[in-house]
Amino acid sequence: MSASLLIVEDEPRLQSLLADYAVHAGYRARTCNSLAAARQAFVDETPDLVLLDVMLPDGSGLDLCRELRNRSSVPIIIVSARVDELDRLLGLELGADDYVCKPFSPREVMARVKAVLRRHAGHTASAASGAADEDSPPALALHSEALTCSFQGQTLQLTPVEFALLALLARHPGHIHSRQRIMDAMYADHRVVSDRTVDSHVRKLRQKMATSWPDWRFIESVYGAGYRLELTAADDAQ
Ligand code: CA
Repeated sequence: MSASLLIVEDEPRLQSLLADYAVHAGYRARTCNSLAAARQAFVDETPDLVLLDVMLPDGSGLDLCRELRNRSSVPIIIVSARVDELDRLLGLELGADDYVCKPFSPREVMARVKAVLRRHAGHTASAASGAADEDSPPALALHSEALTCSFQGQTLQLTPVEFALLALLARHPGHIHSRQRIMDAMYADHRVVSDRTVDSHVRKLRQKMATSWPDWRFIESVYGAGYRLELTAADDAQ
């Protein structure tokens, strides 16, 4: 059966746009325009993924996100009204799987939906089997005593800052880490560094890893939000 999306959005035009694209992409879509309706929809049938607007007539989507997270591992994509709100949302650690900003391209939203569902299915499968399944990509291992990472039998020496950066991302693979959180983790002394410092460390680390493992990509940038560890074959990466 096709995956079901619960679309919680109170702007009628956006709601029907998302629903149309979802159906076109092969999903089943149920739409709601309030928190109350979304809670009821959840009782009727647990969806495979929730697309959740933040500003709703009867309250904040963020409250619903926390609520759902407390009792379910359903993937949640938060739809935020503004790019500059993302940093605040990421700081709240809501447990959402991804974030999208308005105005969005529905095509991009569906690409995120697909990626989140795929990631979630992978996690569920490996959790259920109790071991990595044979189709899942090999894992990246970090060694804090030696400040190295290894992958497919090959080991790469990192600087302390690079190691701290990679260790942070690897702690929650697939989750987005804002530049602010990365800075806090990389510099325990809270010395003032700019966003660009983070970008430049990420760039160097990527280059280094690409030299050792040219067939793989490890760190994905999420526009306006930050970075996440996402292992993909280089020919899949755009
Ligand atoms: Ca709204």
